[in-house]
Amino acid sequence: MSLWLSGIGVSRGIAIARVQKLHGGDLEIAEYTVAPEELEREIERFRDAQQQALAQLREVRSKIPAGTPGDIAAFIDTHLLMLDDRSLVDSTVANIRSAGINAEAALRRSRDALVAVFEQMEDPYLRTRRDDVEHVVSRVQRVLTRTERELPGGQVPLTEPTVIVADDITPADIILLSQQAVLAFVTEYGGPLSHTAILARSLGIPAVVGLHNARRLLRENELVIVDGEHGHVLADPDDKALEHYRRKQDQQAQDRRLLQTLRDKPAISGDGVEVRLQANIELPEDAAVATANGAAGIGLYRTEFLYMNRKGLPTEEEQYQAYSRVVSAVRGPITIRTLDLGADKQVDSGQRQGPTPNNPALGLRAIRLCLKEPELFRVQMRALLRASAHGQVRIMLPMISSLSELRQAKALMATCRAELIREGRVVADRIPVGAMIEVPAAAISSSLLAREVDFFSIGTNDLIQYTLAIDRVDDEVNYLYDPLHPAVLRLIHMTIEAGHKAGIEVSMCGEMAGDACYTRLLLGLGLTDFSMHPANVLEVKRAVREAQVGELRRRVADIMQAASLDDFASLLAAL
Ligand code: PEP
Ligand code: MG
Repeated sequence: MSLWLSGIGVSRGIAIARVQKLHGGDLEIAEYTVAPEELEREIERFRDAQQQALAQLREVRSKIPAGTPGDIAAFIDTHLLMLDDRSLVDSTVANIRSAGINAEAALRRSRDALVAVFEQMEDPYLRTRRDDVEHVVSRVQRVLTRTERELPGGQVPLTEPTVIVADDITPADIILLSQQAVLAFVTEYGGPLSHTAILARSLGIPAVVGLHNARRLLRENELVIVDGEHGHVLADPDDKALEHYRRKQDQQAQDRRLLQTLRDKPAISGDGVEVRLQANIELPEDAAVATANGAAGIGLYRTEFLYMNRKGLPTEEEQYQAYSRVVSAVRGPITIRTLDLGADKQVDSGQRQGPTPNNPALGLRAIRLCLKEPELFRVQMRALLRASAHGQVRIMLPMISSLSELRQAKALMATCRAELIREGRVVADRIPVGAMIEVPAAAISSSLLAREVDFFSIGTNDLIQYTLAIDRVDDEVNYLYDPLHPAVLRLIHMTIEAGHKAGIEVSMCGEMAGDACYTRLLLGLGLTDFSMHPANVLEVKRAVREAQVGELRRRVADIMQAASLDDFASLLAAL
C-alpha cells in the first residue's frame, strides 16, 4: 500500500528509484575507566584516530571533480579545520587525563560542550553548525570503535539508481555518493540551511530533509518517488502516481533541455529591451560555473567567503591572487563586494571577542565593521585595487546606510590607490564604486546617495529583512518574509527611479533577482540589470525573452499607484 510522507523539500527535482538505507547511523559509546599508567597510551590512541579521520577527509576532498561549485570543497575544509581544532583536540586529551576515561567517552564530553555552545547561539544558521561538530566527532568515534559507516554498495560503486535514506548525511558522504548512481537524498534531520541541503542544491540532486522516522517507515529496496520541491516522499506508489510523476519528470527534463538552448541567446525582451543577467559567486572557483551558465559577468562576488572557515585572515597577496583569478577568468565586468562579515557570517565564532550582541544583524557588520577596523579594510582594498589591473573591476560597498560611510570608504580607497602608485604598482585608471541598497535608509535617501556613486545594487535579502523587521534566518518569522510587500516594492521602485534619474546603473543581486516568478514585476519596475545564482540565469532569461517590457511598465505603474491594498494585491496577481 502506498504511503505519503512529508519533510522539507530543499533541493528541487523528482526522483523515482529504490531505497538504500545508510546504515551505522547510531553509534553506541561506552564509558569506562582507564588505569593511570595506561592514560598516555589512550591519548595516543585518540591522536591516531584523529589523524586517520583527517586523512579520510583529505582523500574525499581530493576526489571532488574539477568544475564542482566551490562551496562543496569549502564544506570539507570546514570539517578539516574543526577536526584539527585545538578546542576539540585539547579538551579531549584533557578529559582523558582528568577523568581517567577512554578516548571515545572523552571525545563525547568535548562534543557535548561544543554543541552546547552552538545551541546557545541566537542565529539559526550558526545553530545548524552543530551538525558539523557532530559529523566531525562521529568520524573520529568510528575510527576509535572501528565501526565503518557503511555506504550502500560498500567499496563497490552503486550502479542501480538509488534513493539514499539516512538519519543525516555528512558533506563527505554526499560527495562520495553523488559520484555514484544516487538520484535523491532523504534524511531524518536537517533543515533548509543544513549542509546536506546546500550541497544537494549545488549538485542538483533532489533532497527532502527533516523527515522524521524515514529509516523506520521506508523499507530497504522499496520503490519511492521523491519530490524535492514540495518535500514529499511517496513509498510504494501505485501505477497512477507513477505515471503522474514520470510525466512531471519528463516535463522537467524537457524544460531543462529547452533552457539550455537559450544559453547563447541574448537576454532581450520581446519588445527589444536589452537586459543584463550576471551571476553571484562566492569563491573564485565559481567563476567558471557562472560562465558555463551564460552569465554576462559577475554582479556580486561575496568576498567574505575568503575569510571564513580558516584560521587567521587572508593576506593582501592571497586576496590579490584570488581576485585576479576571477578577473582573468571572466569576460565582462566583475563587481567585487567588500567584506560583509558579521551577523550570520562570522569568521570563526571562537575568534570573536567581547559579548555576543543581542541583535547581530543590526550590529557591527559589513561596511560598519570595515570602517571600525580600517586595517582589515585597507588590506582588502589594496588587493582589490591591484587586481583591477587585470580586468573590469567594480567595487561595491555593502550595507551602506549613510553618506558619511560612503565618503569614508572612498577616502580610504583614494589613500590606498596613492600608496600603491607610490610603490610603482599598476592600478586601473577608473574603478566604478557602487553602494548596495539593502537598508531602508539607503533606499529612502537613494536620490542623495546616487550623486556620489557609479552604481547601485539592490540587496533584497537584507532590504526585506530590515524593512519588515524579520530576521532572515529565523524560521519562526519566515512566513512574514514577503518580497511582494508594498513597502518593499516601493523601496525598490524608489531606488531604481533615483538611480536612473541620476544616470547611474541600478542592478539587483538579492535572491529576488534570480527567481523567475518576479522577473516580469522587476522589468515593470524598470530594472534591466540582474545578478543571481548561476543556476537561475537561464530561467530568468526565458522570462525576459517572453516579456513585453513597455506593457509591463504601464501595468506596474498602475500597481504602484493602487489606491488600496486589495487593488494592489489583485493587480499584482494578474501581472
Ligand atoms: C542581499 O542582502 O540581498 C545580498 C545580496 O547580500 P547577502 O545575501 O550576501 O547579505
Ligand atoms: Mg546583504
